[in-house]
Amino acid sequence: MSEKKQFKTESKRLLDLMINSIYTHKEIFLRELVSNASDASDKLYYKALQENINGISREDMDIFLSIDKEKRTITIEDHGIGMDHDELEERLGTIANSGSNEFKNALEKGVDNVDIIGQFGVGFYSAFMVADKVEVFSKKYGEDKAYAWVSDTSDGYEIFESGLDHHGTKIVLHLKDNTEEENYDEYLSQYEIERLIKKYSDYIHYPIKMEMTVS
Ligand code: ADP
Ligand code: MG
Repeated sequence: MSEKKQFKTESKRLLDLMINSIYTHKEIFLRELVSNASDASDKLYYKALQENINGISREDMDIFLSIDKEKRTITIEDHGIGMDHDELEERLGTIANSGSNEFKNALEKGVDNVDIIGQFGVGFYSAFMVADKVEVFSKKYGEDKAYAWVSDTSDGYEIFESGLDHHGTKIVLHLKDNTEEENYDEYLSQYEIERLIKKYSDYIHYPIKMEMTVS
């Protein structure tokens, strides 16, 4: 069972800005998604400490990136705390952190966007700067069921039960078609992804591993 849901008004505005008004620094989507993966891993690690859960260690929380050149997808996968159905709905359907509000205000004031993206944690929706379809598969730690959150436009998203064989989250970005101005295929280069990880995610204290499917 799945139904199409609408983004909350504020989220939709932010998303529209993200999709239509940002021409530079799109590359920061990777920093945002890797930092979310890291946050989710921290949350599980601290939960395990607080609740004396055995068998959870930082060593098992590598972050995996993969590229599929044929399908033109980038996948970011973590073994963190994950999200259940309602969390997917609340956390991805409504983005209202302070960073994103400031970001939105700055954009609306017409601040040159060359600099502002780097200054705010603009979060999950930055995926839509490079992708026209985003799939989030997630299984909350301790739960049996996994769910998918899928959106291909700023109109809305769907949530439905779906498989994921481990707790945590897997995000699949389907890259936009190339245009004269923008070559999204650059993000399918292992070299480019490595460069971005070194540039923006050097401080992440989980190993970031990468695999590539050429065909
Ligand atoms: P922020 O990270 O500043 O809270 P984001 O837009 O980046 O804002 O993410 C919104 C929320 O979605 C996060 O606070 C978190 O609850 C949830 N979320 C995003 N990515 C993940 C993930 N990989 N694992 C678990 N929860 C996530
Ligand atoms: Mg974030």
